[in-house]
Amino acid sequence: MGLSFSSFWSVWSILVSPSKFVASSPTAEYFNIITSNPSFNLVQPSPKLIILDLNGTLVFRRKTRKVTKRPFLDEFINYLFNDDNFFVMIWTTARPENTEIMVDLIFGDQKEKLIAIWNRKKFDLTNREYERNTKPIKNLDMIWNDLNSQIASGKLFKNNLKISFDLVFDLKNTILIDDSKYKTKLQPFNAIHPCEFNRERVRNGEDSELKRIIEYLEVVKYQSNVAAYMKDNPFS
Ligand SMILES: [Mg+2]
Repeated sequence: MGLSFSSFWSVWSILVSPSKFVASSPTAEYFNIITSNPSFNLVQPSPKLIILDLNGTLVFRRKTRKVTKRPFLDEFINYLFNDDNFFVMIWTTARPENTEIMVDLIFGDQKEKLIAIWNRKKFDLTNREYERNTKPIKNLDMIWNDLNSQIASGKLFKNNLKISFDLVFDLKNTILIDDSKYKTKLQPFNAIHPCEFNRERVRNGEDSELKRIIEYLEVVKYQSNVAAYMKDNPFS
């Protein structure tokens, strides 16, 4: 006795319900905007949104919750905060309580300079996915929608100053720094991938990824379209 077509269809719809469908590759529009806007060198740097991952990128966090800072972390943070063109935020898949521990250790008093801190609660996860170690994708559309509407309504601040209404964050000015390629696959050319800062790297102590990212950002900050530039000149 087999399933009728209609019962097959209802089981199928539950399994593949549209609300749970998650895109896994860049949209045609993403490619179009990149190819139709080649990057050129600006005389002065333009505003850039820098989105930082925490674990594996800036620190290594053990299961015991002990957190080790990556070499050159303080230089890196100071570099980002000392440039008025950088708008820095955190986007981590860690839970709020662990995010707070890492952010306090990394930024200390300077954490007020971050324009936003997004943690695991900011992903569209079911309770079950939240509790398990589900690895969500970081879709930059979520960030752009949220920040741009905050800017438009005068609610987004940097160093206690309202961010100007004419600033719009998009693929041309956004750089996500994350050791995971999987998490950035919807907007792959907006990402810088340092190698994962892990137990082995902590042990051998030789790691200069953050220093290399500073050098790379010194070039990227002068680009009119960072995704177009990074597509042809990826960080490696
Ligand atoms: Mg990571």
